Amino acid sequence: MADTRKPLISGNWKMNLNHFEAIQTVQKLYWLLKSEDYRAADVSIHPPFTDIRSVQTVLEADSIPIALGAQNCHWEDSGAFTGEVSPAALMKLNVAYVIVGHSERREIFGETDEMVAKKVGTVLRNGMTPILCVGETLAEREAQRAEEKVVGQLTTGLANVSRDDITKLVLAYEPIWAIGTGQTATAEDAQGMCKIVRSQVSSSHGAEAAARVRIQYGGSVKGSNAAELLSQADIDGALVGGASLDPEDFARIVAAAHS
Ligand code: PEP
Repeated sequence: MADTRKPLISGNWKMNLNHFEAIQTVQKLYWLLKSEDYRAADVSIHPPFTDIRSVQTVLEADSIPIALGAQNCHWEDSGAFTGEVSPAALMKLNVAYVIVGHSERREIFGETDEMVAKKVGTVLRNGMTPILCVGETLAEREAQRAEEKVVGQLTTGLANVSRDDITKLVLAYEPIWAIGTGQTATAEDAQGMCKIVRSQVSSSHGAEAAARVRIQYGGSVKGSNAAELLSQADIDGALVGGASLDPEDFARIVAAAHS
């Protein structure tokens, strides 16, 4: 990881924890994280929508330096979109980061690259940071099509993002076969694809933007494998699912950013 890119460790709680459990989890995490952890890494947590207001209240009441994140949003600020969540409303809750195009949204809920691109634009317009997820399936990897898939997702996802705005977002390389499976990409494989992601940004938005944009790795990151992954030159943080539900393991992952 380059000195200029502060790592971002993000906990995606997915559809877990009610608002009582969420409050307990964030308080425990706060108790576990030390000032050197916050100096070494930015930390965000992404609770389910039903918990966001409760978590915001805890973070702000105790001035806890953990950023609030969301897992998704709609691409319009308001309108007749039953069951969807407004990015403008998230911004009012002081949400700082929004995960966009997570593979579960793409694979289970049919989000296309075009929908993801619209969400990236809306999140930026509302002054929040999109965490744009890209990654290939096992079949695509085995067919030697991983790079083509990831580059395609980046090309469409970033098509409307200006050179100035590119460093206002975070990219997350998450191979789908490694998400929630316990199967982590090797540090070399994760680094190899994060390097490809950076070089794609260099082609589309210039070398300076590519040198500054943060790229996370995600896929079964845990306390035991985080240090090796985070030490790779093009990996600037982690997007963590399952292990982020355990404050102790999540705190170990954050600490790995300065191990
Ligand atoms: C994720 O949800 O983005 C993720 C990487 O999950 P896990 O860490 O459980 O593989």
